[in-house]
Amino acid sequence: MAIFARITRKLKSDKQRPAKLRRRNSEAPPNDRQEGINELGEREYSVWSDASTLVGTRDHTDMLHGLAHDGFDIVVERLNSQAGGVEQDVAELRRLHELSERNKTRFNEIPANIWRHITTFLDPADAAHLALTSRLFLEKLGNEPLDILNLPENRHYRIRFLNQMDAQLPLHLLCFPCGVYHRRTNIGNERPKIDYVHNPPFICPKSTSTVLPRMRLAHGRQLPYYFVQLATRRAAYSMHHGIKCDTLCRRWKDHGNGWTHQSLYMIHEGRLLLRMRSQIFAPPKLTVTAQRMLLYDRDDFKPFFSVCAHWRDGELMNVCKCALSHVPAPPESLLRQIRASPRAQDWVTKPNLMARQCEFCRPARRCPECPTEYLLEISIREDKHDPVNQFKHVLVATRWSDLGDGTSPTASKEWCAINGLKADYDSFSSVGRRAVAGTFESQMSGSIPGQRMISLNPKKTKRGEDEHGWY
Ligand SMILES: [Zn+2]
Ligand SMILES: [Zn+2]
Ligand SMILES: [Zn+2]
Repeated sequence: MAIFARITRKLKSDKQRPAKLRRRNSEAPPNDRQEGINELGEREYSVWSDASTLVGTRDHTDMLHGLAHDGFDIVVERLNSQAGGVEQDVAELRRLHELSERNKTRFNEIPANIWRHITTFLDPADAAHLALTSRLFLEKLGNEPLDILNLPENRHYRIRFLNQMDAQLPLHLLCFPCGVYHRRTNIGNERPKIDYVHNPPFICPKSTSTVLPRMRLAHGRQLPYYFVQLATRRAAYSMHHGIKCDTLCRRWKDHGNGWTHQSLYMIHEGRLLLRMRSQIFAPPKLTVTAQRMLLYDRDDFKPFFSVCAHWRDGELMNVCKCALSHVPAPPESLLRQIRASPRAQDWVTKPNLMARQCEFCRPARRCPECPTEYLLEISIREDKHDPVNQFKHVLVATRWSDLGDGTSPTASKEWCAINGLKADYDSFSSVGRRAVAGTFESQMSGSIPGQRMISLNPKKTKRGEDEHGWY
């Protein structure tokens, strides 16, 4: 009797509206609701009756949600969401149950072979999604869509299908060479190692026998793709899904060639941004051969600093050589000056030690084919190991890149563009007015680089490896 009295009191006070709906409506006025969104915040698709249908909206995830939520599953869902027993609106539940039974009968009236025929118009990933929409669909379609998805030639579809489960699997990570989720072995403590092949974040049977998706950071350093996944997953879902992007930042010196590198990461709008800053002491009056010795690794003929896949096509290396040519000579000793010129005025006048870069090498450069920007500067640093000339000029090569949202190394358009996997990226239209460098520096240091930005490859030439203009 007490429960019955409580139900009556509750119904009176709610004025026949469920408590959950009223709470949501009080937060957002009905006028703010978008067109086609119901009071539960779901988009409604009517499969059976009116014309607001599947025509023209080929968003399969929304479509399948519409099928499921308009059907019988909604009863269970509402029962779960309105846990608390006494607060359930009995009349509303009865109405939904009748609707669910009616739709279930209609679904059952369509033979299984027609449902199977419908799946032939979908790609393997969408067909598998449809089969797993509800128990009824699984009975109608059987395991066939999942078996098709498991075929080796459908690996890309399988990865797209599995990607949807990322939020539900914080302790696992999708391995792209295998196309399966592996259990993370060192949860929350994954750190980049130089030998990344033997230190994967999960136990993977293919880690030593396949080419792991990765990008070159600098000479001898790579960034495996799973760190992009971990950093973007943490930002997208929760702290249990990945690691902070700060833990990827590194500073190191390459003792074989004298370059020092610093990598810095940040998350912006769900995507991982990278800044690589590399520098080396630049002596004045270098010959062309000496410039090449300073810039290129003789093992693979790539620059020691960080570059995107299109560095050979544009003016990047010419800009580097031009910047090196502006390094001023250090002041000569007084004895040498007296020998060189008998005029006292020449001994007093000190040469300007600040390098003045020209109009060609001063501006920042943006690669037209990927979200990467470069800035080459000559500045002064202290050399603690040189007792005579403590302050020397250095060439500083800074690269900013957008590494994408971590969905997959073959689907993330930014990742594909910077690694040269796809050629359909137009950085000037995609990046927009605010450059990657501006976004990065405004959040990290509060100020954006003052240099104007021009194209790295204004003539859109394709030199590639065959032509030697880049060397
Ligand atoms: Zn694997
Ligand atoms: Zn110049
Ligand atoms: Zn590029």
